Amino acid sequence: MPELAEVETLRGQLEEEILGEEVLGVSVFDSKLRGSEVLFRGRVCAVKRHGKALVLTLEGGDVVIRLGMSGRLKLGAPERPPRLTLRFPGGEIHLIDRRRLSSIGPLGGLPKGVDPLLGDPPLVWDSSRPVKALLMDQDFLLGVGNIYASEALFVAAVDPFVPASRLSPEERLRIFGAVREVLLEAISLRGTTISDWRDLYGRPGLYQERLRVYGKEGRPCPRCGSPIRRRVLSGRGTWFCPSCQVQ
Ligand SMILES: [Zn+2]
Repeated sequence: MPELAEVETLRGQLEEEILGEEVLGVSVFDSKLRGSEVLFRGRVCAVKRHGKALVLTLEGGDVVIRLGMSGRLKLGAPERPPRLTLRFPGGEIHLIDRRRLSSIGPLGGLPKGVDPLLGDPPLVWDSSRPVKALLMDQDFLLGVGNIYASEALFVAAVDPFVPASRLSPEERLRIFGAVREVLLEAISLRGTTISDWRDLYGRPGLYQERLRVYGKEGRPCPRCGSPIRRRVLSGRGTWFCPSCQVQ
């Protein structure tokens, strides 16, 4: 699903294309989004991101777009039937979503975690949960999902399964720094395309070519050469090096 790096890529591109532009019309093609057309009123005053959610500030108020598992926005001709289309003077932007889990609504109900690009490291890590699960908790850190949590813990050389409360202050800072490093690198490459993700112009991201452990079971660790392992944590695949990521 689109994580912070993908949504930030989209945010920057939307800012380039529609900041200051007026919404001329909205067409809804999916009954699950019916009613959302009334939210898009006036000019776009700001294009923001809250974790994995896009927040468009319009003259008529804020609109939150959650992309769900496979949602994306496309400027110009869509490759598949859109769920919703926004018309601007410069062209149309389509919401495309194979799994129809994206949603649009007014401001509200947003998670309360720290944005790893904008905020300071969280002070309280006193969770008995595995650190990877904590990193993916949107009320702890915003925007980090399975891909970037796995990659950041590898970069920080921390075992994804260690309870967060057992980490030293130094390890916590190292993890936070690694999350930031991985996300900034991914943003510079327009995110990670494993299946659905494309940017506003329909281009895949490039970060999948830089992945160190995610999806690499059995392949050699880029640091020590040991085979990467996969274990399931909270129902999600978790990839790690059993030699480097040891507490
Ligand atoms: Zn290793």
